[in-house]
Amino acid sequence: MAETTVNRLNSDMKKNHIENLNPYEIVQIQIEHAAEKLGLDRQVVEILKKPQRVIYVSFPVKMDDGSIRVFEGFRAQHNTAIGPAKGGIRFHPEVTMDEVKALSMWMTFKCGVVGLPLGGGKGGVVCDPTKLSKRELEQISRGFMEAIEEFVGPDKDIPAPDVYTNAQVMGWMMDTYSRINKAFVPGVITGKPLAIGGSLGRNEATARGCVITIKEAMKQLNKPLEKATVAIQGFGNAGRIAARLLAQEGCTIVAVSDSKHAIFKPDGFDVAKLEELKQHASLDQYERAERITQEELLTLDVDILIPAALENVITSKNASQVKAKIIAEAANGPTTPEADEILNANGVLVIPDILANAGGVTVSYFEGIQNMLNYYWTEEEVNSKLEEFLVRAYKQVSKLAKEYHTDLRNAAFMIAILRIKEAMEARGWI
Ligand code: GLU
Repeated sequence: MAETTVNRLNSDMKKNHIENLNPYEIVQIQIEHAAEKLGLDRQVVEILKKPQRVIYVSFPVKMDDGSIRVFEGFRAQHNTAIGPAKGGIRFHPEVTMDEVKALSMWMTFKCGVVGLPLGGGKGGVVCDPTKLSKRELEQISRGFMEAIEEFVGPDKDIPAPDVYTNAQVMGWMMDTYSRINKAFVPGVITGKPLAIGGSLGRNEATARGCVITIKEAMKQLNKPLEKATVAIQGFGNAGRIAARLLAQEGCTIVAVSDSKHAIFKPDGFDVAKLEELKQHASLDQYERAERITQEELLTLDVDILIPAALENVITSKNASQVKAKIIAEAANGPTTPEADEILNANGVLVIPDILANAGGVTVSYFEGIQNMLNYYWTEEEVNSKLEEFLVRAYKQVSKLAKEYHTDLRNAAFMIAILRIKEAMEARGWI
């Protein structure tokens, strides 16, 4: 029997120890998996496997001590067949061009699976925001926007927050873009402060979307959400707010971690206290909580595991020890393809990142609509539209997964790819 592309890739993966593959190579494997199942034309696969454009910039910033430091940044635009590129900008000391390329590709498929009229983009600046003053952070935000200004805009590419960036950073970037263009252009960026065209509900949207998909998954497994136990890796915007919302649903949050500490409390944490400690002290100061390792957190015997930090945390090394029934990927790219195989074989239901964390970009899309209309929705309107979009997306994905006897990740990619292919055909690209 002729060796299929996926088999070939799988054996290459094993030979080359896929765990060393970077996210760019991982997303290409995910595309191949979906393409194989769809019997997709190779020309479509080849287009999808590479970003349309990757921008590299460097720019000088005057630091508080008077010295000049040169910062490097990237912006990748993967596919704009359906609409302008869309996706966050992360500030991280270890961000790389390949990582940003991969993240821009996940954005295309994320928008595709929800059915948003947007493509995929992502940006990154190599810096450590924990070691910068507010003034330095502002200069970096403005410097990066100035450097990429000609390539972004409401009809071209619309950035948003991501790891270690927030509404204030978006506000500075929007201001820089508006000043250069001598016009008020809120639609250039989403996740802005409310005072300059941000949307109600955007700050909570990634976590809220994640909770909506968890509810659907629990229904699918016929399990009640109330009293379900939850472990969350990462206590940034997504992890922290997911903990809050799940606690409100009656779940017991038994473990949380940030980049420094992981803590465990079998009878459940008071999430408000955790948020307070995270802001003013440190998570490990929670009284009567057991200190555990990040690795232990991922393999706890819980109902729901939420990786909400960075890529490649569930790998072939720990996947077989995962005891959670559901993994909801609030982070982008937390699970490697080899780990996926193991989790599937063990019956763990993985809600893939491109669906589980799509709430952020969905409300970003709503923010863009509100900016265009210059008319703003109530928080209830935003939240109910978000629910409508994500429940529909979850149902479509799970239906296709059943039809094709495949997992939710593959089905999500398949739906997205079919939508992008249709747009590329309509535009005469293929
Ligand atoms: N950074 C978020 C993500 O990875 C949000 C992107 C957006 O709102 O454009 O999905």
